[in-house]
Amino acid sequence: MNEIHARTSRHEALHCVAAYWLGWQVDAVSRPHAGGLHGATHLSKTPPSGLEPRELGLRKAAVFLIPAIDDPTDDTCEEDINEADILVRLSGIPLSKVWAAAQALLVDPSFREQVRRVEYALHETTLLSGAEIRHLMFHGE
Ligand SMILES: [Zn+2]
Repeated sequence: MNEIHARTSRHEALHCVAAYWLGWQVDAVSRPHAGGLHGATHLSKTPPSGLEPRELGLRKAAVFLIPAIDDPTDDTCEEDINEADILVRLSGIPLSKVWAAAQALLVDPSFREQVRRVEYALHETTLLSGAEIRHLMFHGE
């Protein structure tokens, strides 16, 4: 396991579990096969229902920003930060609220445990399905 794989696994696991906690279904999560920096978290097309547009924007921005908040030295986050920036501007949410929403997840021990399980599974493979992710999150490894 090289350092780039470890970083990408953690990065995508954070997007994935945060999206779940904030109301999205996650269809799949992947990391690149060889040495690339960018994995991908595939969210279901249906956003969480019953939310105000501002709340939806806030949650989406938190999902984008959480790897950068968890590890400010993660230099693969530029695209995520741009996406979050657009959402924050469009919905007029203070960035501090997005930050607080992501922090609230990061300090939660059950959140961290679920991230760890998805992260470790992504070390071993390059693609996890929605069913595999749910199994890891709710039933352990
Ligand atoms: Zn990312």
